[in-house]
Amino acid sequence: MNADLSEIRIEPVPASRLPEVDLGNVPFSSVFSDHMLVAEYRDGAWCPAVIRAYGPLALSPSISALQYAVSVFEGLKAHRLTTGEVALFRPWENARRLNRSALRLAMPEVPESLFLDGLRRLVRLDQAWVPALGAGALYVRPCYFSVDESVRPKPAERFLFVIFTFPFGAYFPASVDVLVTERYVRAFPGGTGDLKPAGNYAPALLADKEARDAGLGTVLWLDARERRYVEECGVMNVFFVFAHAGGARVVTPELSGTILPGVTRDSVLTLLREMGVAVEERRVPMDEVLAAHRQGTLLECFGTGTAATLTHVRRIRYRDADHELPPLETRAIGPAVRERLIAIATGRSPDGYGWLDRV
Ligand SMILES: *Cc1c(COP(=O)(O)O)cnc(C)c1O
Repeated sequence: MNADLSEIRIEPVPASRLPEVDLGNVPFSSVFSDHMLVAEYRDGAWCPAVIRAYGPLALSPSISALQYAVSVFEGLKAHRLTTGEVALFRPWENARRLNRSALRLAMPEVPESLFLDGLRRLVRLDQAWVPALGAGALYVRPCYFSVDESVRPKPAERFLFVIFTFPFGAYFPASVDVLVTERYVRAFPGGTGDLKPAGNYAPALLADKEARDAGLGTVLWLDARERRYVEECGVMNVFFVFAHAGGARVVTPELSGTILPGVTRDSVLTLLREMGVAVEERRVPMDEVLAAHRQGTLLECFGTGTAATLTHVRRIRYRDADHELPPLETRAIGPAVRERLIAIATGRSPDGYGWLDRV
């Protein structure tokens, strides 16, 4: 027995908190929208979902989400369109990825209808929280975790699927300096680097802190085996633009099992190909990046992910040497593809790929 759309119960809040919020100026993840969706899985079935006031959940300290990180999540955005409507960006990709993460942690799948219809209903109910066109977006965080009260590390049986949202303003740092770390790795073959389990992120925090303590923004991750190939940029996929025979060639690490298959990554690749840019998905040796920088053929580097869309890398620090990239004003590809992606996501350009899901 699985929950269907008709089983989502809505308990609206008596009064919205929205009038207290300056929507265009809220920092990322600082104020949460009025409602959240909560659905429970127990005794082998999904119970009807409820959309109710955002707030604390009553949970026991022994739950395996807390003890063993039996927990996965997703992140996507809803935008205000030029028409005033609200649309989610490729949410079915997140539904599928959540279930791939769940499977890897021996968790039952979340029915796609629960994920998608739950998402649409929640965002529709809180659509006043979506900032105006050009003034930001609504970030949507589905998460799914075990509430088994047991400290035995075994596949769990009781779960909560929760979706909450928050608005954030247009301002996001346009660029970042990165520290190449050889001490820590984010992912390794046979691990979970190509998924979004909660447990991937805590072990990255110290590396990130060390980068920040050194005056940089985040970490450029190398592969676990040889510390030789570039994998990701913080919690973003990474792209390099190399000068090549009078044009440019964009290179991003191939999805080898340790790279997170970002929805933004996929969208950017699609749009680059559409723009006629030569694109390669393959391993990217750090040596190649350094050699290109030395020869003046490293034109751009950028990270992609839902929250920031596309962030330019300004400087790469590797073994105490700083490698300054060309100034942002000289960059052609990153800014163009970013603009094109945002134009589609906000309805300014036609949605030729069927990426928008109007709520
Ligand atoms: C979520 C995530 C990304 C970006 O994925 P999107 O689907 O584009 O948001 C990239 N790298 C890591 C490690 C991530 O967790």
